[in-house]
Amino acid sequence: MKNLKLSIVVPVYNEENNIELLYNKIISLNLELDLNIIFVDDCSTDSTLEVIRKLNLKDQKVKAISFSRNFGHQIALSAGIDQSDCDILIMLDADLQHPPEEIYKMIKKYKEGYDVVQMTKKNQGKRNIFYKLFSYIFYRFFRKIAGVNLSNNVSDFRLISKRVIDEIKKLNEKERFLRGIVQWVGFKYTEIEYKPGIRHSGVSKYNFFE
Ligand code: UDP
Ligand code: MG
Repeated sequence: MKNLKLSIVVPVYNEENNIELLYNKIISLNLELDLNIIFVDDCSTDSTLEVIRKLNLKDQKVKAISFSRNFGHQIALSAGIDQSDCDILIMLDADLQHPPEEIYKMIKKYKEGYDVVQMTKKNQGKRNIFYKLFSYIFYRFFRKIAGVNLSNNVSDFRLISKRVIDEIKKLNEKERFLRGIVQWVGFKYTEIEYKPGIRHSGVSKYNFFE
């Protein structure tokens, strides 16, 4: 049987010191899948793109999408989805706050028949009280207007199947609020709790609310 195709989509903005480490961690998982890693460079001003190019020369599994200006995390994720051609897509952050080891559990759920495996944070980490309060109010409001039962601790760390990818590709909005959309499109949905890591190198690009 043909191997399943997995694409890992990583939005990157000034992550020069995280990319190689993340790449090594993903490779060392030895996933028995037809893997590629799509880095979406959101117009970094450091050597992020150069690091990705070097990896690509060494390993064809590494692909790059490069933006002409900084469009933001959500649009970077959307571009990665639009360019993908795979059976399973996993999106995760470059800074190792989304532990690649969780990929085993995510794929297990996919094999059990789930189309969306949404990772939820065990805690919000070191966010300040205003962030936590704003986030609480935002999600309450969102649940009311969108009619989607979105929990407070979801992150942009998730697996989606080809069926979900195909539906998302049909949506024309350039800025898609993926946290809501992955539930809104339907299909079998499940969550896994994970303990977020600490940013490996560099600084967070979000000071208040992402
Ligand atoms: N990111 C991006 N464009 C931006 C800001 C961030 O592509 O304008 C990427 C960033 O490189 C990281 C992910 O989005 O891989 C999440 O960003 P960050 O770690 O700064 O957010 P936080 O974890 O603090 O919410
Ligand atoms: Mg982060």
